[in-house]
Amino acid sequence: RREIRPLVAGNWKMNGLKVSFGEVQAVGDALLGPLASIAADVMIAPPATLIAGFASGLGARPVLLAGQDCHAKASGAHTGDISAEMLKDAGASAVIVGHSERRADHGETSEQVRAKAEAAHRAGLVAIVCIGETQEERAAGATLDVVSRQLKGSMPKASTAVNTVVAYEPVWAIGTGLTPTPDDVRIVHAAIRSDLVHLIGPEGAHMRVLYGGSVKPDNAATLMSVENVNGALVGGASLKASDFLAIVRAYE
Ligand code: PEP
Repeated sequence: RREIRPLVAGNWKMNGLKVSFGEVQAVGDALLGPLASIAADVMIAPPATLIAGFASGLGARPVLLAGQDCHAKASGAHTGDISAEMLKDAGASAVIVGHSERRADHGETSEQVRAKAEAAHRAGLVAIVCIGETQEERAAGATLDVVSRQLKGSMPKASTAVNTVVAYEPVWAIGTGLTPTPDDVRIVHAAIRSDLVHLIGPEGAHMRVLYGGSVKPDNAATLMSVENVNGALVGGASLKASDFLAIVRAYE
């Protein structure tokens, strides 16, 4: 069985300025120094305006960069949008699609998310496809149904363990300090794993499935040790290098 190399990705959302490169640099320096043997890939998704500058400033530091969203088209009359090709050109190797804030604030449907993930693949980017239930859906006992439906609707047919990452992010856990129990996480990730094998075949056994939602230095090791959790998507705690690195250390 192929080993799954974990991924710890930081989603800065609409935070960060050029000066924030200091945080990225500190993460990169640690990965070249004390964390050189870390068994995980490390990625930061800053606002798109910062990707090119961060990419050139990083040099040999092993920090991957990602966009937070992309348009489904490669170019055209779409004012204010950004394409996967543009993110790639700026130095990104991945793009988050279908984050719950995009689904909620911009009404993105799973069909649109799938088109964005296909755009990522077209551009040569890894698509990080986000799914997750709301508090109401969880209370109604619909978590596994919702997650399964979103996964089926959002994942391109041509997804592979190389070009796609799934991020399970319960909406009620994002930015709230609340997290599911490890057992809850285990149950959802096991269901996602079995759906993935069903959807794309044996390759689905190797795809990374991240957990996201209030991952912090003090709960990272517990959450990351749950079966079928292959890394984290981190929001708030990714803004400070020291917090983010403390999470990365779950894979030390
Ligand atoms: C996120 O928005 O992807 C996220 C996980 O946020 P936080 O870690 O702040 O809950």
